Amino acid sequence: MKFLKLPANNLPEFILNLRKIGEVHIPIKKGEKSFVFRKMNKPQDISLMQLDYSRTILPLKKYFYHPTETMFEFSRDGFVQPEKPPEVHDIIFGVHACDIHGVLTLDLVFSGKYRDEYYFQRRKNISLIGLSCMPDEFCFCNSMATDYVDTGFDLFFSEIPEAYLVRVGTSKGDDMLNLSRELFEEITHKDINAHKDYSITRKKAFKRSLDIRNLPEIMDLEYESNLWDELGKRCTSCGTCSMVCPTCYCYRIFDDISLDMESGRRRRQWDCCLFRDHAMVAGRHNFRQSRADRFKHRWLHKQQSFAGVFGRPSCVGCGRCIEDCPAKIDIITESNKIQGE
Ligand code: SF4
Ligand code: SF4
Repeated sequence: MKFLKLPANNLPEFILNLRKIGEVHIPIKKGEKSFVFRKMNKPQDISLMQLDYSRTILPLKKYFYHPTETMFEFSRDGFVQPEKPPEVHDIIFGVHACDIHGVLTLDLVFSGKYRDEYYFQRRKNISLIGLSCMPDEFCFCNSMATDYVDTGFDLFFSEIPEAYLVRVGTSKGDDMLNLSRELFEEITHKDINAHKDYSITRKKAFKRSLDIRNLPEIMDLEYESNLWDELGKRCTSCGTCSMVCPTCYCYRIFDDISLDMESGRRRRQWDCCLFRDHAMVAGRHNFRQSRADRFKHRWLHKQQSFAGVFGRPSCVGCGRCIEDCPAKIDIITESNKIQGE
Protein backbone atom coordinates (compact mmCIF):
# COMPACT_ATOMS: atom_id res chain seq x y z
CA MET A 1 0.00 0.00 0.00
CA LYS A 2 1.19 3.54 -0.73
CA PHE A 3 1.50 6.18 2.02
CA LEU A 4 2.24 9.89 1.74
CA LYS A 5 1.94 12.86 4.05
CA LEU A 6 -0.23 15.92 3.47
CA PRO A 7 0.59 18.93 5.67
CA ALA A 8 -2.66 20.13 7.25
CA ASN A 9 -2.21 23.58 5.66
CA ASN A 10 -2.42 21.96 2.21
CA LEU A 11 -5.71 20.20 2.85
CA PRO A 12 -8.01 22.98 1.55
CA GLU A 13 -6.09 23.17 -1.72
CA PHE A 14 -6.17 19.39 -2.11
CA ILE A 15 -9.96 19.37 -1.63
CA LEU A 16 -10.48 22.27 -4.01
CA ASN A 17 -8.42 20.45 -6.66
CA LEU A 18 -10.72 17.43 -6.34
CA ARG A 19 -13.42 19.57 -7.91
CA LYS A 20 -11.63 19.06 -11.25
CA ILE A 21 -12.77 15.44 -11.30
CA GLY A 22 -16.14 15.53 -9.56
CA GLU A 23 -18.51 17.12 -7.12
CA VAL A 24 -17.06 17.16 -3.63
CA HIS A 25 -19.10 16.58 -0.48
CA ILE A 26 -17.78 17.48 2.94
CA PRO A 27 -19.00 17.23 6.56
CA ILE A 28 -20.48 20.50 7.78
CA LYS A 29 -22.33 21.58 10.91
CA LYS A 30 -26.10 21.73 10.89
CA GLY A 31 -27.82 23.42 13.80
CA GLU A 32 -26.36 23.36 17.31
CA LYS A 33 -24.54 20.04 17.38
CA SER A 34 -25.46 18.01 14.31
CA PHE A 35 -23.50 17.35 11.14
CA VAL A 36 -24.35 16.42 7.56
CA PHE A 37 -22.46 15.62 4.38
CA ARG A 38 -23.17 18.38 1.89
CA LYS A 39 -21.99 19.27 -1.60
CA MET A 40 -19.47 22.11 -1.89
CA ASN A 41 -21.17 24.55 -4.19
CA LYS A 42 -18.40 27.14 -4.20
CA PRO A 43 -14.77 27.22 -3.04
CA GLN A 44 -15.67 29.35 0.00
CA ASP A 45 -17.74 26.41 1.34
CA ILE A 46 -14.49 24.80 2.40
CA SER A 47 -14.51 27.10 5.44
CA LEU A 48 -17.66 25.27 6.63
CA MET A 49 -15.89 21.89 6.76
CA GLN A 50 -15.88 20.24 10.20
CA LEU A 51 -12.98 17.82 10.47
CA ASP A 52 -13.64 16.83 14.07
CA TYR A 53 -17.32 15.95 13.61
CA SER A 54 -18.64 12.99 15.59
CA ARG A 55 -21.20 11.50 13.17
CA THR A 56 -23.54 12.84 10.50
CA ILE A 57 -27.31 12.69 11.00
CA LEU A 58 -27.81 10.41 8.01
CA PRO A 59 -25.10 7.97 6.96
CA LEU A 60 -23.80 7.59 3.41
CA LYS A 61 -26.70 5.40 2.31
CA LYS A 62 -28.55 8.57 1.36
CA TYR A 63 -26.19 8.84 -1.63
CA PHE A 64 -26.54 5.29 -2.99
CA TYR A 65 -29.97 4.37 -1.83
CA HIS A 66 -32.26 7.37 -1.88
CA PRO A 67 -34.98 7.76 0.79
CA THR A 68 -37.56 7.73 -2.04
CA GLU A 69 -37.02 6.91 -5.69
CA THR A 70 -38.92 5.98 -8.84
CA MET A 71 -38.10 2.50 -10.06
CA PHE A 72 -40.03 2.75 -13.33
CA GLU A 73 -43.03 4.42 -14.91
CA PHE A 74 -45.93 2.67 -16.56
CA SER A 75 -48.96 3.36 -18.71
CA ARG A 76 -51.47 1.25 -20.56
CA ASP A 77 -48.81 0.84 -23.29
CA GLY A 78 -46.21 -0.76 -21.04
CA PHE A 79 -43.28 0.01 -18.78
CA VAL A 80 -40.72 2.79 -19.19
CA GLN A 81 -37.51 3.24 -17.22
CA PRO A 82 -37.22 6.87 -16.06
CA GLU A 83 -34.61 8.88 -17.90
CA LYS A 84 -31.26 8.51 -16.18
CA PRO A 85 -29.78 11.75 -14.84
CA PRO A 86 -26.36 12.60 -16.35
CA GLU A 87 -23.61 10.61 -14.63
CA VAL A 88 -21.70 12.73 -12.14
CA HIS A 89 -18.65 11.62 -10.20
CA ASP A 90 -19.14 12.43 -6.51
CA ILE A 91 -16.27 12.44 -4.04
CA ILE A 92 -17.20 12.27 -0.37
CA PHE A 93 -14.42 13.55 1.85
CA GLY A 94 -14.15 12.81 5.56
CA VAL A 95 -15.86 9.44 5.95
CA HIS A 96 -15.22 7.62 9.22
CA ALA A 97 -14.15 3.98 9.29
CA CYS A 98 -17.47 2.72 10.72
CA ASP A 99 -19.39 4.41 7.91
CA ILE A 100 -17.12 2.85 5.29
CA HIS A 101 -17.95 -0.51 6.90
CA GLY A 102 -21.62 0.50 6.65
CA VAL A 103 -21.24 0.95 2.88
CA LEU A 104 -19.40 -2.37 2.56
CA THR A 105 -22.31 -4.01 4.41
CA LEU A 106 -24.84 -2.49 2.00
CA ASP A 107 -22.68 -3.66 -0.93
CA LEU A 108 -23.03 -7.21 0.39
CA VAL A 109 -26.79 -6.93 0.74
CA PHE A 110 -27.48 -5.29 -2.60
CA SER A 111 -25.14 -7.55 -4.57
CA GLY A 112 -26.86 -10.71 -3.39
CA LYS A 113 -28.96 -13.07 -5.49
CA TYR A 114 -30.96 -10.15 -6.92
CA ARG A 115 -28.38 -7.45 -7.65
CA ASP A 116 -29.86 -4.01 -7.08
CA GLU A 117 -28.93 -1.94 -10.13
CA TYR A 118 -30.53 1.20 -8.71
CA TYR A 119 -27.99 1.04 -5.90
CA PHE A 120 -24.94 0.08 -7.96
CA GLN A 121 -25.66 2.64 -10.66
CA ARG A 122 -24.94 5.35 -8.09
CA ARG A 123 -22.35 3.44 -6.11
CA LYS A 124 -19.96 3.10 -9.05
CA ASN A 125 -19.77 6.90 -9.45
CA ILE A 126 -18.98 7.72 -5.84
CA SER A 127 -15.49 7.83 -4.36
CA LEU A 128 -14.88 7.72 -0.64
CA ILE A 129 -12.08 9.49 1.18
CA GLY A 130 -11.81 8.31 4.77
CA LEU A 131 -10.81 10.35 7.77
CA SER A 132 -9.66 9.17 11.20
CA CYS A 133 -11.74 10.17 14.23
CA MET A 134 -11.81 10.09 18.02
CA PRO A 135 -14.75 8.28 19.65
CA ASP A 136 -17.36 10.13 21.67
CA GLU A 137 -19.69 8.74 24.36
CA PHE A 138 -21.90 6.92 21.80
CA CYS A 139 -19.25 5.15 19.71
CA PHE A 140 -18.57 1.44 20.06
CA CYS A 141 -17.10 0.58 16.65
CA ASN A 142 -14.08 -0.97 18.42
CA SER A 143 -16.44 -3.65 19.81
CA MET A 144 -17.81 -4.33 16.33
CA ALA A 145 -14.30 -4.48 14.73
CA THR A 146 -15.23 -1.58 12.45
CA ASP A 147 -12.93 1.05 13.95
CA TYR A 148 -10.37 0.36 11.25
CA VAL A 149 -10.70 -0.24 7.50
CA ASP A 150 -8.34 -1.76 5.00
CA THR A 151 -10.69 -1.68 2.03
CA GLY A 152 -13.67 0.31 0.77
CA PHE A 153 -11.94 3.70 0.46
CA ASP A 154 -10.04 5.43 -2.34
CA LEU A 155 -7.88 7.44 0.07
CA PHE A 156 -7.78 7.42 3.86
CA PHE A 157 -6.54 10.38 5.89
CA SER A 158 -5.20 9.69 9.40
CA GLU A 159 -4.48 12.64 11.61
CA ILE A 160 -0.93 13.20 12.85
CA PRO A 161 0.38 16.47 14.35
CA GLU A 162 -0.12 19.27 11.81
CA ALA A 163 -0.51 16.80 8.94
CA TYR A 164 -2.30 13.71 7.64
CA LEU A 165 -0.82 10.35 6.87
CA VAL A 166 -2.60 9.43 3.63
CA ARG A 167 -3.19 5.82 2.61
CA VAL A 168 -4.00 5.05 -1.03
CA GLY A 169 -6.71 2.40 -1.38
CA THR A 170 -7.45 2.32 -5.12
CA SER A 171 -6.08 3.52 -8.45
CA LYS A 172 -8.85 6.13 -8.43
CA GLY A 173 -7.42 7.36 -5.13
CA ASP A 174 -3.95 7.45 -6.67
CA ASP A 175 -5.32 9.63 -9.50
CA MET A 176 -6.81 12.02 -6.94
CA LEU A 177 -3.50 12.24 -5.16
CA ASN A 178 -1.56 12.78 -8.38
CA LEU A 179 -3.80 15.72 -9.16
CA SER A 180 -2.12 17.56 -6.28
CA ARG A 181 1.13 15.60 -5.98
CA GLU A 182 3.16 18.75 -5.22
CA LEU A 183 1.14 19.23 -2.00
CA PHE A 184 2.28 15.87 -0.58
CA GLU A 185 5.51 14.83 1.09
CA GLU A 186 7.20 11.49 1.75
CA ILE A 187 6.54 10.07 5.22
CA THR A 188 9.29 9.85 7.82
CA HIS A 189 9.84 7.58 10.85
CA LYS A 190 8.64 10.44 13.01
CA ASP A 191 5.31 10.39 11.12
CA ILE A 192 4.99 6.63 11.57
CA ASN A 193 5.57 6.98 15.31
CA ALA A 194 3.07 9.84 15.47
CA HIS A 195 0.53 7.63 13.68
CA LYS A 196 1.11 4.80 16.18
CA ASP A 197 0.70 7.24 19.09
CA TYR A 198 -2.59 8.48 17.62
CA SER A 199 -3.85 4.88 17.29
CA ILE A 200 -3.00 4.13 20.92
CA THR A 201 -4.67 7.33 22.15
CA ARG A 202 -7.73 6.48 20.08
CA LYS A 203 -7.94 2.93 21.43
CA LYS A 204 -7.89 4.31 24.98
CA ALA A 205 -10.54 6.93 24.18
CA PHE A 206 -13.40 4.42 23.74
CA LYS A 207 -15.72 4.69 26.73
CA ARG A 208 -18.25 2.04 25.77
CA SER A 209 -17.93 -1.59 24.82
CA LEU A 210 -20.08 -4.52 23.87
CA ASP A 211 -18.89 -8.11 23.91
CA ILE A 212 -20.58 -9.62 20.87
CA ARG A 213 -18.91 -13.03 21.02
CA ASN A 214 -21.73 -14.85 22.77
CA LEU A 215 -24.50 -12.37 21.99
CA PRO A 216 -26.18 -14.45 19.23
CA GLU A 217 -26.30 -17.48 21.52
CA ILE A 218 -27.66 -15.51 24.50
CA MET A 219 -30.26 -13.85 22.30
CA ASP A 220 -31.46 -17.28 21.21
CA LEU A 221 -31.64 -18.47 24.82
CA GLU A 222 -33.46 -15.29 25.86
CA TYR A 223 -35.92 -15.35 22.98
CA GLU A 224 -38.86 -15.37 25.40
CA SER A 225 -37.33 -12.89 27.87
CA ASN A 226 -39.52 -10.21 29.47
CA LEU A 227 -36.91 -7.69 28.47
CA TRP A 228 -38.40 -7.58 24.95
CA ASP A 229 -41.79 -6.60 26.42
CA GLU A 230 -40.18 -3.88 28.53
CA LEU A 231 -38.32 -2.50 25.51
CA GLY A 232 -41.47 -2.81 23.39
CA LYS A 233 -43.30 -0.62 25.91
CA ARG A 234 -40.60 2.06 25.80
CA CYS A 235 -40.17 2.10 22.02
CA THR A 236 -42.55 4.47 20.20
CA SER A 237 -42.02 2.87 16.76
CA CYS A 238 -40.86 6.23 15.45
CA GLY A 239 -38.40 4.53 13.08
CA THR A 240 -35.53 6.95 13.78
CA CYS A 241 -33.05 4.20 14.68
CA SER A 242 -33.58 2.56 11.35
CA MET A 243 -33.51 5.72 9.22
CA VAL A 244 -30.18 6.83 10.71
CA CYS A 245 -28.62 3.37 10.66
CA PRO A 246 -25.93 2.96 7.98
CA THR A 247 -26.86 -0.67 7.45
CA CYS A 248 -30.68 -0.68 7.60
CA TYR A 249 -31.86 -1.26 4.05
CA CYS A 250 -35.54 -2.27 4.10
CA TYR A 251 -37.89 -0.49 1.74
CA ARG A 252 -41.55 -0.55 0.83
CA ILE A 253 -42.86 -0.43 -2.72
CA PHE A 254 -45.96 1.45 -3.80
CA ASP A 255 -47.57 2.78 -6.97
CA ASP A 256 -48.38 6.45 -7.60
CA ILE A 257 -51.28 6.33 -10.06
CA SER A 258 -52.31 9.38 -12.09
CA LEU A 259 -55.80 10.76 -11.52
CA ASP A 260 -57.00 9.60 -14.95
CA MET A 261 -55.75 6.09 -14.14
CA GLU A 262 -53.82 6.00 -17.41
CA SER A 263 -50.28 5.97 -16.05
CA GLY A 264 -48.25 5.79 -12.88
CA ARG A 265 -44.90 5.40 -11.22
CA ARG A 266 -43.64 2.51 -9.15
CA ARG A 267 -41.71 3.92 -6.25
CA ARG A 268 -39.73 2.67 -3.32
CA GLN A 269 -39.17 4.35 0.00
CA TRP A 270 -37.10 3.56 3.10
CA ASP A 271 -39.12 1.46 5.50
CA CYS A 272 -38.52 0.27 9.04
CA CYS A 273 -39.24 -3.09 10.65
CA LEU A 274 -40.42 -1.23 13.75
CA PHE A 275 -43.37 0.24 11.83
CA ARG A 276 -46.59 -1.65 12.50
CA ASP A 277 -47.37 -2.38 8.85
CA HIS A 278 -43.91 -3.59 7.87
CA ALA A 279 -44.75 -7.26 8.36
CA MET A 280 -48.35 -7.02 7.18
CA VAL A 281 -49.29 -9.34 4.33
CA ALA A 282 -52.41 -10.00 2.24
CA GLY A 283 -55.57 -10.39 4.33
CA ARG A 284 -54.08 -7.89 6.81
CA HIS A 285 -52.32 -10.65 8.73
CA ASN A 286 -49.37 -9.20 10.58
CA PHE A 287 -46.45 -11.43 11.51
CA ARG A 288 -45.20 -8.94 14.08
CA GLN A 289 -48.28 -7.28 15.49
CA SER A 290 -46.83 -6.34 18.87
CA ARG A 291 -44.14 -3.70 19.27
CA ALA A 292 -42.14 -6.08 21.46
CA ASP A 293 -42.02 -8.58 18.59
CA ARG A 294 -40.93 -5.91 16.16
CA PHE A 295 -38.28 -4.68 18.53
CA LYS A 296 -36.94 -8.18 19.10
CA HIS A 297 -36.90 -8.80 15.37
CA ARG A 298 -34.75 -5.73 14.67
CA TRP A 299 -32.18 -6.54 17.32
CA LEU A 300 -31.97 -10.19 16.46
CA HIS A 301 -31.56 -9.30 12.82
CA LYS A 302 -28.73 -6.83 13.53
CA GLN A 303 -26.72 -8.96 15.90
CA GLN A 304 -27.67 -12.51 15.04
CA SER A 305 -29.49 -13.46 11.83
CA PHE A 306 -27.49 -11.13 9.57
CA ALA A 307 -24.31 -12.71 10.90
CA GLY A 308 -25.77 -16.13 10.10
CA VAL A 309 -26.00 -15.16 6.41
CA PHE A 310 -23.09 -12.77 5.92
CA GLY A 311 -20.65 -13.86 8.63
CA ARG A 312 -20.71 -10.65 10.68
CA PRO A 313 -23.33 -8.56 12.49
CA SER A 314 -24.84 -5.70 10.52
CA CYS A 315 -24.31 -3.17 13.31
CA VAL A 316 -21.12 -1.13 12.80
CA GLY A 317 -21.21 0.59 16.20
CA CYS A 318 -21.68 4.13 14.87
CA GLY A 319 -23.83 5.12 17.88
CA ARG A 320 -26.47 6.97 15.83
CA CYS A 321 -29.40 4.95 17.17
CA ILE A 322 -28.23 5.54 20.75
CA GLU A 323 -27.81 9.28 20.29
CA ASP A 324 -31.09 9.78 18.43
CA CYS A 325 -33.61 7.43 20.09
CA PRO A 326 -36.29 9.61 21.72
CA ALA A 327 -36.98 6.80 24.22
CA LYS A 328 -33.30 6.69 25.20
CA ILE A 329 -33.02 3.03 24.32
CA ASP A 330 -29.34 2.17 24.29
CA ILE A 331 -28.26 -0.88 22.31
CA ILE A 332 -25.18 -1.41 24.51
CA THR A 333 -26.90 -1.11 27.89
CA GLU A 334 -29.73 -3.41 26.82
CA SER A 335 -27.44 -5.95 25.16
CA ASN A 336 -25.30 -6.04 28.29
CA LYS A 337 -28.50 -6.63 30.30
CA ILE A 338 -29.45 -9.56 28.08
CA GLN A 339 -25.97 -10.95 28.68
CA GLY A 340 -26.60 -10.82 32.42
CA GLU A 341 -24.58 -7.76 33.40
S1 SF4 B 1 -35.55 5.27 17.73
FE1 SF4 B 1 -36.08 4.35 19.71
S2 SF4 B 1 -38.26 4.79 19.96
FE2 SF4 B 1 -37.79 5.14 17.78
S3 SF4 B 1 -38.23 3.15 16.81
FE3 SF4 B 1 -36.06 3.12 17.35
S4 SF4 B 1 -35.98 2.15 19.37
FE4 SF4 B 1 -38.11 2.76 19.03
S1 SF4 C 1 -27.67 -0.40 15.01
FE1 SF4 C 1 -27.25 1.67 15.83
S2 SF4 C 1 -25.07 1.65 16.37
FE2 SF4 C 1 -25.44 -0.13 15.05
S3 SF4 C 1 -24.94 0.58 12.98
FE3 SF4 C 1 -27.15 0.89 13.26
S4 SF4 C 1 -27.36 2.99 14.04
FE4 SF4 C 1 -25.20 2.43 14.25
